[in-house]
Amino acid sequence: MGIFGKDSVIKSVLSFTCPRCHDGSLFEKGSLLRPGSLFKMHSHCPHCAQSFEPEPGFYFGAMFVSYAINTALFIAAWVALTAVYPDYSLTMLLGLLTGVVILGLPLTYRLSRSIWIAIFVRYDRKFAGEARMKQR
Ligand SMILES: [Zn+2]
Repeated sequence: MGIFGKDSVIKSVLSFTCPRCHDGSLFEKGSLLRPGSLFKMHSHCPHCAQSFEPEPGFYFGAMFVSYAINTALFIAAWVALTAVYPDYSLTMLLGLLTGVVILGLPLTYRLSRSIWIAIFVRYDRKFAGEARMKQR
């Protein structure tokens, strides 16, 4: 059970892969040129067929995870602004925070869902690796 091994939950969460097999990706291949594509999720794991929406409204709770991530981003942006430009105005701070949230949106969205599903679905070695037949 290493932090960066195949069975690492942290690595799976950060690479947005299926929490059960750590192989299939949670999201469709997105492109920055088509921002909508960054929010498209597979309905099932392309590798082990784990459902990525076990029940309707499953990702409601992921909102709270994204609040937490946004709070951390806010604090980081505020600390950075204070360090770089101590005489900042309220307008600058709000502008920076808005920019951080908008630019960070695809990442926050993916990360919060990746964390959320990893809380409920456990890694199962049976489903990992190439030996397993691909099923759809
Ligand atoms: Zn999978």
